[in-house]
Amino acid sequence: MISPGIKKLSFEQYLDTIRAFTDSELIPGEKEMVTAGAVPERLVDRMIELGLFGITLPSEWGGLGWSMEQQVLLTFEFTRASCVYRSRFSTTIGLSSQIILDHGTDLQRELYLSKMANGRCVTSFALTEEHAGSDAGSVRTTAIKDGNDYVLNGSKRYITNGAWADLLIVFARTNPEIQGGRGTSAILVDAKWPGVSATLPTIMNGHEAGPVAELSFTDVRVPAANLIGTHEGTGLRLALRGINHARTHVAATAVGQATRILHEATRHARTREQFGQPLADFGAVESLLGQSYAELEAGRALVLDCARAFDAATGPGNDTAAPPAIPAARIAAAKLFCTEMASRVADRALQILGGEGIVGDHPVPRMWRDVRTLRIYEGASQVHERNLARHLKKTVL
Ligand SMILES: Cc1cc2nc3c(=O)[nH]c(=O)nc-3n(C[C@H](O)[C@H](O)[C@H](O)COP(=O)(O)OP(=O)(O)OC[C@H]3O[C@@H](n4cnc5c(N)ncnc54)[C@H](O)[C@@H]3O)c2cc1C
Repeated sequence: MISPGIKKLSFEQYLDTIRAFTDSELIPGEKEMVTAGAVPERLVDRMIELGLFGITLPSEWGGLGWSMEQQVLLTFEFTRASCVYRSRFSTTIGLSSQIILDHGTDLQRELYLSKMANGRCVTSFALTEEHAGSDAGSVRTTAIKDGNDYVLNGSKRYITNGAWADLLIVFARTNPEIQGGRGTSAILVDAKWPGVSATLPTIMNGHEAGPVAELSFTDVRVPAANLIGTHEGTGLRLALRGINHARTHVAATAVGQATRILHEATRHARTREQFGQPLADFGAVESLLGQSYAELEAGRALVLDCARAFDAATGPGNDTAAPPAIPAARIAAAKLFCTEMASRVADRALQILGGEGIVGDHPVPRMWRDVRTLRIYEGASQVHERNLARHLKKTVL
């Protein structure tokens, strides 16, 4: 449960609390997490108490109700620690809770949202399959109506928190006659139901302590009332606001990671001496640090700008006037720029570390591997580039 005192804090006080939690518990806990191969349960409990599972849900559903701008400012702080911590709650606070918030029935919201905000219902978003990666409309998992149930068969891969989830949002083809996204529905599946199983990979190249799961569904009976939305075949469309929400969070995560990586590199460059002087005093190293700082601050400003625009489009009060549209292209640009930027910053940092970037347990090489994954999920960089080019071709006269 979120501790009652947390709910009384102003945003500034809450931000200070999360900053202090990051510095005094999350960053010092990284070695323990890496050794255990998972986020230690005591830290998951602290995240729950501090409300991190509830930052995106309104107070009527037990959450803290922060705006997107506030969520981004918080993300800049807690992702100065390993982004694996953030992954532990990201699927619950992001895509999964947002699709229920936007399109769930009253009963679905009652059943799940306040449990999610209080960390008692870890939820995974299960879309990707062997044949449906970037091409999300190609899912082959089926959910075929049989009386008042769907019968679910198929498998999913790379599912964050799949092994820890209580609830799964599964994308399945409810009408196999219809090809592409329009045949696909989003369905709520209890992870403990008969026929559901999760397995973990043996090797992760990045995010090692937050392994993604393969899920398998064999004749799983799901009540028809667990369909999200009023019509079959709308699953991907219903997820749209949540997808923009999640991309903004991933962009902010890249900024948080790059901030920490650059601080680690600067600290090393100031203390390590070669040729009788600190590395930080070589012009070539200053250039690496300076480029990284400029790109990091550009990314930070871009994400904040997107977050404010997201709030203007979706925040309170927008139901009365004609609200602006969610700036999907700018959000995609922010996701693309910030994740690529974090990898460049990490690569330069690794260069500054020299052999320490390859041998030993310095956090930078681990974070270098972690940020590499950000360029693949929530839309691979090349898919965003393609979509942005298409947007330009449509909008520029
Ligand atoms: C750590 C991690 C966590 C994840 N968590 C989840 C999760 O919780 N839920 C979930 O459903 N999925 C999750 N995923 C899956 C993720 O969304 C997919 O990996 C991603 O969509 C890419 O799909 P793919 O891996 O099949 O790569 P592919 O689709 O095979 O693409 C491989 C590469 O081909 C290129 N490419 C593909 N299509 C195009 C195109 N149209 N134009 C130009 N280039 C293209 C890109 O360079 C791309 O990187 C996760 C993945 C990772 C790595």
